[in-house]
This record gives sequence, C-alpha cells and structure tokens, in this order.
Amino acid sequence: MKIEQISKHVWSLRTWMLIPVTVWVVKEEDGVVLIDAGIPGMAKGILSFIDRLNAGPLKAILLTHGHSDHVGAVERILKERSVPIYVHHIEMPYMEGDAAYPRRKKAAQSVRKGVAKALQEMQEGQLAGVGSLKPHFTPGHSPGHVVYYHEQDGVLLAGDLFTSKRGKLRKPMAMFTADMDEAMRSSRIVSELRPKRLEVCHGGPVLAPAEQMKVYLQQ
Ligand SMILES: [Zn+2]
Ligand SMILES: [Zn+2]
Repeated sequence: MKIEQISKHVWSLRTWMLIPVTVWVVKEEDGVVLIDAGIPGMAKGILSFIDRLNAGPLKAILLTHGHSDHVGAVERILKERSVPIYVHHIEMPYMEGDAAYPRRKKAAQSVRKGVAKALQEMQEGQLAGVGSLKPHFTPGHSPGHVVYYHEQDGVLLAGDLFTSKRGKLRKPMAMFTADMDEAMRSSRIVSELRPKRLEVCHGGPVLAPAEQMKVYLQQ
C-alpha cells in the first residue's frame, strides 16, 4: 500500500486491484477519520498506519457511497475498532441489499444492515459537517454519492464523482455509473468550492480542478 501525506491534515492510502483504489485518513483534533474503506485487504494496512500516525484513535468511517470497492475493509476494521460509519441515507437501501443500484439487475448487499448510520441532514438537504469535513451531496455515479471537502486544506475527496488521468478530470466509469447526466451536473460542486486539490478513488490527484471544469463539461 502506498501512503502519502497530501496536505497538512490528509493522507492518501492506495493499493491496486487492476485499477488504483484509494482511501484517505484525515487528522482531527481528537483522533482521525477514514474516508472510504477500499477493499478487504486494505484493513490491516489502514489500521497499522493509523497507529503509526499516533494522532489519536480512529473516530469514524465516512463513505462516499456503498459500492463494494469503497466499503471492503469495513467488517475487518469493525472487528478491531468500534467506530460509527456514515453514509448518505439515500445510499443505504442499495448498499444494504434492499434495492438494486440503477442499471444493475440484482440487489446486492455490500454492508450489513444496521452497520452504517445516515449523515445528518440539515434543512433543504444540506449535510451537516463532520469534524473538519463538509459532506456535499453529489448523486449520479450512485444515488446517494457524497464528496467530502476539507476546507482548511483546500482538499476535495471526491470518491467516484470523477476518475482522472495524468492530472486531468475524467468522467466516472460509465459501466458502474447509475446516471451519467446527473453525475455531470453534480460535478459543478468543483466550481463552487474551487479546491486546491481534488482526489479520486481510482486515479491520481487533480490540482486546481475548477480550471478544468469548462472543458470537462463539454465532453
Ligand atoms: Zn463507485
Ligand atoms: Zn469505485
């Protein structure tokens, strides 16, 4: 697993399974949070990195969405640490196996029922901040996809809202994307937040991504 500090408070942890799979550890004042949980084989490396970092206990796991390559290490981590797991409530029936993701034939459970809690919603669908991270609802790749913005560091953890290639934004993988038009509309969050750096799960970083949005939306 390749570990890299990408800003003052954020580390990326990456492994490869045909494609790169990335999760992020964010340092808070009283511990750390994990964004996404990759594949099962990452559990040990994630936990030993958190121990080495020595920045306090793992406080929570925040999920961008419930696809199996984003929740894989949840069970193994829960065996070792008791932490809450948060996801957008719209994503829950899909990942818990009660409903099939759009464009998929069958429902499939990626997280046991009752394991994940809903991110707190304020008025008009706005999501409440979790520590130093602000979740933003960005549906399209999956119905309840969210991205997490670390405002202080200017880092947007964008999950599967995009992929990237050689520093350029690319569309999310079409085969696994529920509604591409909706995902394109959700990508406008980048123009709104204007992060310094954008991170995707299955690709390298994108610097100053807002400057690419015009070109990206013309694709
Ligand atoms: Zn996905
Ligand atoms: Zn993915």
